[in-house]
Amino acid sequence: MPIKKVVILDRDGVINADSDAFIKSPDEWVALPGALEAIARLNQAGYRVAIATNQSGIGRGLFDMDALNAMHLKMHRMAAAVGARIEAVFFCPHTAEDHCECRKPKPGMLKMITERFEIDPAHTPTVGDSLRDLQAGAALGHPVHLVLTGKGRKTLAAGGLPEGTIVHDDLRAFALDFLADVQE
Ligand SMILES: [Mg+2]
Ligand SMILES: [Zn+2]
Repeated sequence: MPIKKVVILDRDGVINADSDAFIKSPDEWVALPGALEAIARLNQAGYRVAIATNQSGIGRGLFDMDALNAMHLKMHRMAAAVGARIEAVFFCPHTAEDHCECRKPKPGMLKMITERFEIDPAHTPTVGDSLRDLQAGAALGHPVHLVLTGKGRKTLAAGGLPEGTIVHDDLRAFALDFLADVQE
């Protein structure tokens, strides 16, 4: 069976600018420079892109599902404008107190993506800016990539990254490095 080409991305701090005050509305959802173009580049190389994102702002009552849907509508529209397609968005609406199985560092969302796309985790990179993104990926045997946008620099400085973590300046650099690697 040919390897299914899928890349799993965190959202805040990877695709769009992050905020300690949460991204609560479409207005606050602002793409990072080159991020959507990086997704387009991955798509052009045959990769499907899925998102796994913690959105505890819902569980905290900071915004509702309508707002999250509106943010994602904006994201999909802006992506389409540069020829990028995000195929699926998996989100965890819970807070830590909910003790769910989907909030990263728990690997629940990645498991769902593995089942939905019938992928081999060993051939499916996950990209994030926080330690918990990397921990979730490493727990299932995904190659894990840290970008230095969002919380990435803090994450790198804090150390304790899963073994084998590969570091990139941003999603654009990830796409270029990763695609150069797989085409060798
Ligand atoms: Mg993030
Ligand atoms: Zn959850």
